[in-house]
Amino acid sequence: MIDIYNRKIDYIRISVTDRCNLRCIYCMPEDGIKSVNHSEILSYEEIIHLCEAFAKIGISKIKITGGEPLVRSDLAYLIEKIKNINGINNVTLTTNGILLEEQIDSLVKAGLDAVNVSIDALDESTYKYITRIGNVSSVIRGINKALEYKNLTVKINCVPIDGTNGKQILDITKMAKNKKLNVRFIELMPIGLGKKMNGLGEDEIKEIIEEEFGELTPFNKSLGNGPSHYYSLEDFEGKIGFISAVSHKFCDKCNRVRLTSRGFLKTCLQYDKGINLKKMISDGENQEELIDAIKTTIYNKPRKNRFLEINSHEDFEKHIMSEIGG
Ligand code: SAM
Ligand code: SF4
Repeated sequence: MIDIYNRKIDYIRISVTDRCNLRCIYCMPEDGIKSVNHSEILSYEEIIHLCEAFAKIGISKIKITGGEPLVRSDLAYLIEKIKNINGINNVTLTTNGILLEEQIDSLVKAGLDAVNVSIDALDESTYKYITRIGNVSSVIRGINKALEYKNLTVKINCVPIDGTNGKQILDITKMAKNKKLNVRFIELMPIGLGKKMNGLGEDEIKEIIEEEFGELTPFNKSLGNGPSHYYSLEDFEGKIGFISAVSHKFCDKCNRVRLTSRGFLKTCLQYDKGINLKKMISDGENQEELIDAIKTTIYNKPRKNRFLEINSHEDFEKHIMSEIGG
């Protein structure tokens, strides 16, 4: 569907849990988040019901996220059901990769089209420092197993943080040299714990890469559903992408909305704006009423983020990123 600013909205990120098996310093507090009752989280049946409504208003691409989506049991079941909905033609996953090795076979069998694996360092001690508990070798095994599936698109996500994993940028970039995968660097956004630290900007990251690997040549084709833009490096099989929501705002081309694990349809990452769809389902609203509410909410999607503003506003997002899904 088209929103009030004439943007085509055809993509939704659905968080299936706000729990996680890692505690990344910019995303989750060290002692985790307060557990909520299962009844407060959307059931798979509710998610499928909502996806049918999303498909009817023109959403065709779905990203499953979390918290960590692979900690929720039988995710493959959900993926298979969503993939079979008329109108949904692309179902992808963002994961920290810790449980990927053991689950990738069933996910691909269920119809998964692509997987993005978040890995902020290859060096064991930096990885442990950022994730607090993770073991990087299990993530690497998961990535390698995913790469065995020729029809599965595999991407790497890395968030460079000032004074933390800057030295890892070259090693992460090198992952795209001889492998069929694209590496994306995501600018740290001032959401949740991300407000307390500084990320590296696209220009700084590019300088580090170019000094070692030569010129980054713009690659003008889109390689996915989202706002990344890509570059080629000579002799590299994969591309290098950037998601630069802070330094290169892409709000005028934004095609996405988000559904939190508690059923809140959120229309822009920065604002606490949207509608509680889980409540509507519990109140017994029928599919037509749901569709009307979804349409009105998405139509009024905010025009742009205000990440560079120093002052916080009342309507700014107060949840942490693991509750939103990135
Ligand atoms: N657990 C999964 C993972 O790590 O991929 C999915 C959820 S995680 C919230 C999704 C993505 O958001 C990850 O790539 C993570 O690095 C990124 N992320 C979390 N907090 C962020 C922030 N403040 N700014 C930019 N990206 C962030
Ligand atoms: Fe968990 Fe992903 Fe957040 Fe790290 S970024 S704490 S893996 S939800």
